[in-house]
Amino acid sequence: MSPHRKFAAISSVFAAVTLLAYVGAVDAGPKRPTVNRPLTSFDAAAVERAKVGAVQRVRNPECMKLLTDFRDKEGRTLDRRLETWGMSAADYLQMIPFVDGFARPICQRSSVELVTTAGLAVVCVCPAGAGALNSRFAKVQAENPSLAEFMIIHEMLHTLGLGENPPSSFAITEQVMRRCR
Ligand SMILES: [Zn+2]
Repeated sequence: MSPHRKFAAISSVFAAVTLLAYVGAVDAGPKRPTVNRPLTSFDAAAVERAKVGAVQRVRNPECMKLLTDFRDKEGRTLDRRLETWGMSAADYLQMIPFVDGFARPICQRSSVELVTTAGLAVVCVCPAGAGALNSRFAKVQAENPSLAEFMIIHEMLHTLGLGENPPSSFAITEQVMRRCR
């Protein structure tokens, strides 16, 4: 499996919609579709299994060197937000919501499993598409649990402000695998 086509991050276009939905601040704007529909129980269980493994990995200080390997677009290392919040990466990862990405157009690409807007603490899980019951991520989790855990950590880095291209999705995942194996 080639992991470099397994990830996608997009910026700004969907940020406002996602943020509105995430914080529930919907009074002030036009009606928007609900973009944070909960996952099916099957997909939620797959995410939970991957999260448990990912949390174990981020407890390792070597893995958490990722937070200073990468920077956000303001040039700050990714550990800054956690420091501000007084949270460990493990505690933070456990609280990131994973929601159904059906409303995200980029999810229509069959190579994309998860979508995160840089700097927003919510991860969208792309549905598999017509005729499939479960997400592509659930399939990865079943076939390659370690890869699913690396994917979760990759997305966590985006929630902490890491953009993409550059660094490429492939480069991010390679570094996650190197630090967190
Ligand atoms: Zn990415």
